[in-house]
Amino acid sequence: MRYYSTNNPNYAVSLSEAVIKGLAPDNGLYMLQRIPVLSKALIDHLPEMSFREIGYAVISALFSEDLNDRQILELVDHTLAFDAPILEVEEDVYSLELFHGPTLAFKDFGARFCSKLMSMLVADKSKKLHVLVATSGDTGSAVANGFLGVEGVEVIILFPKGKVSSLQEKQFTTLGKNITALEVNGVFDDCQTLVKQAFLDPELNQKLLLTSANSINIARWIPQCLYYFYAFSRLPKNGKKVVFSVPSGNFGNLAAGVLAWKMGLPIDYFVAATNVNKVVPDYLKGAPFHAEPSIPTVSNSMDVGNPSNFPRLLTLFGGDEDLFREKIKGYFFTDAQTIEAIQKVKTKGYILDPHGAVGYLGLKEFMNNNPDYIGVFLETAHPGKFRDVVEEALGEKLVLPERLAAFLEGQKQVIPMGKSFSEFKDFLEGLD
Ligand SMILES: *Cc1c(COP(=O)(O)O)cnc(C)c1O
Repeated sequence: MRYYSTNNPNYAVSLSEAVIKGLAPDNGLYMLQRIPVLSKALIDHLPEMSFREIGYAVISALFSEDLNDRQILELVDHTLAFDAPILEVEEDVYSLELFHGPTLAFKDFGARFCSKLMSMLVADKSKKLHVLVATSGDTGSAVANGFLGVEGVEVIILFPKGKVSSLQEKQFTTLGKNITALEVNGVFDDCQTLVKQAFLDPELNQKLLLTSANSINIARWIPQCLYYFYAFSRLPKNGKKVVFSVPSGNFGNLAAGVLAWKMGLPIDYFVAATNVNKVVPDYLKGAPFHAEPSIPTVSNSMDVGNPSNFPRLLTLFGGDEDLFREKIKGYFFTDAQTIEAIQKVKTKGYILDPHGAVGYLGLKEFMNNNPDYIGVFLETAHPGKFRDVVEEALGEKLVLPERLAAFLEGQKQVIPMGKSFSEFKDFLEGLD
C-alpha cells in the first residue's frame, strides 16, 4: 500500500516512510491510496469474534501487503492488550469506554500501535530510533507509555517546567527504561522549537535516526478504527439504525470512525460533538471551513481551533462536501452544559469525564431529533484523569483507579534543560 499526501495526490510513499516521517514534506497528511472493503460475511460474523480477532481481520486487510502474519499478530496483541467495553447508560444510549489502557485515555490505542509498528519498520537495526516529543501534557504520557520497553526505540520527552499538572507529569517522568524526560526551563513553545530545530539539523540527522510520533501520524490514526468495529459488533441493535457520537478536537478519532464506515461497517450517522471550539459544527451547518484561535474549556483536550485532521475527513468523502455534511451531524456545547450533563448522568449511576459528557450531549441531541436510533458515545478518558472538574461538578471525591494512583507514587526523574538549542544538541549527541 502507498500513502499519498493530502496536499498532493501524486506524491506517494511507502508505509515505512509515511510512519517514520509522520508528515509529508509539503506538510500534508498521509492517506491510504486504496481503502479495502471487508466482505459482508465478515461484517456479519463480527459478533462471534473477539476484539483481537476483529483487530487481526481489520489490520490484515489494511497492512497485509507490507507486514507478515506474525508481525500483524504482534501489533494487534500489543495494541489491544486491554478491553473497550460498551455500557448501557440509559435506554439505547451506550458508552464506549476507551480508558482502560495505561494512561486512561483513548490515545493509548494509537500510541501503542505506533510504537510497535515503528520498531518493526526501522530497517537499520544497528541504529536506534529516537522519538522526540514536545508535550504540554497528554501526548507525552500516551506516547511514553506506548513506547515503554519497545525494543530499538528511545523516547525523549520535552516538557515545560512547572506548566504540566503533577498527575500528567508523573505519567511520563517516572517510567525509566527507554523513556527520558527533559524538563525545559521555558514554555511549551520552547519545547516545540527545540524539537523542530533538531529535525532540521543536518549533523544530528546524520548521526541519529529521529522521528516524532505526532498525533497525525497514520500509525496513530488508523488503529483507532478498530474499536468502532468492536463496539458495533457488541451493540444489541434489534433492527435499529446506529449512530456514533465522537467528542472531538483534532478530529482524528472521528475520521477513524469514518474509515471504519468506508471499510464496510454499516454506521448510519456520526455526530461531531465539540465544546465551544466549534469550527467543525459551524462547517457542517453550511459555513465555509475557517480556523479560529482556541478557547479554553473544561474539556481541554478538545480545545482546538484548527483541527489538524480536517483534510483527512474531507478526502474520506472524496472531497464531496454535501456527503460530508449529510453523514456527520455537528453539535457544540458550553462548559455549563457539560457540567450539567456530568451531574445528570451521575443520577443514573454513571460518571462521565468532561469529554465523554460532550459526546453524550451530542448523542442525546441527535436522538431527540431522530428517534428509533441506537447510539454509542465515545468515553475518551477516565473521569479520574480530570478529577478537578468532575469532583467540583459532583461535590464528591472520586476513587482513582489503581493504575492512576500507582503513577502518583512513582519517583520523578528528569534531566533539566535550558532553552538553547546548543545544550539540547549536546545532549542528543551524547546519546548512543
Ligand atoms: C485527544 C482527546 C480528544 C480529542 O480527540 P481528537 O482525535 O483530537 O478529536 C478527546 N478526548 C480526550 C480525552 C482526548 O485526550
